[in-house]
Amino acid sequence: MSTEEDRITLGGAQKDWKMLKNIIDPYRGDRTELLAILHKVQEQWRKIPLEVARWIADEMDIPLVHVIGTATFYHFFSETYSGWYTVHVNTSVTAEMAGLAEIIEAFEKELGISFGQNTLDDRIGLRKTSCIGMCDQEPAILINGVVFTRVTPQRVQQLVAGMKANTPVHSMLKSSPTEVKSQICLRGPVFFSDYTPGMGLSKAMELGSLDVIERIKSSKLRGRGGAGFPTGLKWGTCRATESESRYVICNGDEGEPGTFKDRVLMTELPELIFEGMAVAGYAIEAKEGIFYLRREYGYLREHLEKTLDSMRAQHRLGRKILGTRFSFDIRIKEGAGAYICGEESALIESAEGKRGQPRNRPPYPVTSGYLRKPTIVNNPETYVCALKIVLNGAEWFRKLGTSESSGVKLLSISGDCRSPGIYEVEWGKTVREILALCGAENVLAVQVGGPSGICISEKQFDRKICYSDLSTGGAFTVFGKERDLLSVVHNYMQFFQEESCGFCVPCRAGNTLLIKALEKIRSGNGTILDLDHMQKLGKMIKTASRCGLGQTSPHPLLTTLDNFEDIYKNIVRKDVDYLSQFDLRFAVTDSCSVAQRTPDLGKLEEG
Ligand code: SF4
Repeated sequence: MSTEEDRITLGGAQKDWKMLKNIIDPYRGDRTELLAILHKVQEQWRKIPLEVARWIADEMDIPLVHVIGTATFYHFFSETYSGWYTVHVNTSVTAEMAGLAEIIEAFEKELGISFGQNTLDDRIGLRKTSCIGMCDQEPAILINGVVFTRVTPQRVQQLVAGMKANTPVHSMLKSSPTEVKSQICLRGPVFFSDYTPGMGLSKAMELGSLDVIERIKSSKLRGRGGAGFPTGLKWGTCRATESESRYVICNGDEGEPGTFKDRVLMTELPELIFEGMAVAGYAIEAKEGIFYLRREYGYLREHLEKTLDSMRAQHRLGRKILGTRFSFDIRIKEGAGAYICGEESALIESAEGKRGQPRNRPPYPVTSGYLRKPTIVNNPETYVCALKIVLNGAEWFRKLGTSESSGVKLLSISGDCRSPGIYEVEWGKTVREILALCGAENVLAVQVGGPSGICISEKQFDRKICYSDLSTGGAFTVFGKERDLLSVVHNYMQFFQEESCGFCVPCRAGNTLLIKALEKIRSGNGTILDLDHMQKLGKMIKTASRCGLGQTSPHPLLTTLDNFEDIYKNIVRKDVDYLSQFDLRFAVTDSCSVAQRTPDLGKLEEG
């Protein structure tokens, strides 16, 4: 292993063949492990040097363009040197609410550089990133992947002093092994009820694989990641697809801003997640499971690996589980920072070592997923629910929640409330009841389901959290009456602009145009016509985008235009309208095509 000084010297992309060989050898011949290789290269050189990318391409027998295309897709790989200490400050809306601006200012003042730059000696690099899943303990930052929570300007001074003194990152933590707290505020009957390790698997084997699937179907369990697809139907379709191999994937890429409940499940109940995956493997006759872990939660990897090792030692994973003929094992694959990888087909691409771009569907992953084999993708919460259903029965689960939305939901509550954290509630609770639970008063708005969800006003607080009314993957973000809601919308729209994979124009260019229009409104130069244009443009983006990210990306704007129309109407200019028409259309045509501009300007002249 090189010393820190050696690594800094190697920032110039000199080759060290021995080091490269050590990195690549464990993965030789397995192209799906390209991200794991790139992580090690990034860790070693603090960038992906072109020379190293060439070498990886040669050794792995993959095109150089594939290596570079993958390396440039993700936030946590960089083409340029990112500093021996790379500080990632997350720009989530809850971080903004908790003092992000002061943290940014403190870092820039202490180091004399701006975000995006490195110190002159290349020791420290400052970078921004999207939500890192710490909305209940903001402002939170990452230094070389290690999470620091509730950071203050004074703490920034200490951290900078520590980095200048070459202190190991873990030594700067206030508590070991992590500062991240689970903050479970309400325990319910499903996730935190009694559990005896191995009992779920024993019960599944007693039932038989087909009956397990029937039990899941009968429970009416739906996927907890947000889309709400019936879990039993997914498992049944996958099992019914002829193939010599099938895969079970757990989507641990919890990237929706405001959502952090899977982080808590991974921390507190990893055995239940893995046993739920093994039950799914038994049900669909799969031998291999993949746990896709978001890079922002990389600090949990050791904890998860230890759990897997202990389960293997107890014959609850691996060959001949519990002494039967059933074999199933799970390996962890880490993402590298890309919200789009929460979409199941993008996640599969990423797990295969590629850019995390969504696939055209059909075919769906249940028939053609990982390595084009039948694959089920569910999130940690779904696997734990499935395990408890196998143990306690479908009827037990159906009695919880509502007739259409059975069971419970883990909510990640953050923002303006006294007790942010995790709440296990039965489906069907009203927003008002949940606000009372978390101690939220004087509430202006609640964002249900994160930026891709809906922003509701007080008039709608009697609506229910359930699939038939307010569906959510878990995020529940509260905004008090003193908040500038348009600033929140701006933050969310910038998130989508940043996270768009860029494949299709409506999402890539459309959201940029929406942000321009919003900025015009916020600057006081917008008119009523701009509001109309934003509605139309937002609807076009929803309709014409290729995947769920684009199809939901205008929601922050569209739902606030619907539910908080007065906020917009109060700041638009009432004296001018044709100027607004000109400005927005010019912006649209400028970004799309000159051909479109002429008729628009023509119309303007006619008008
Ligand atoms: Fe990529 Fe956005 Fe198109 Fe989805 S909608 S494929 S994220 S550009």
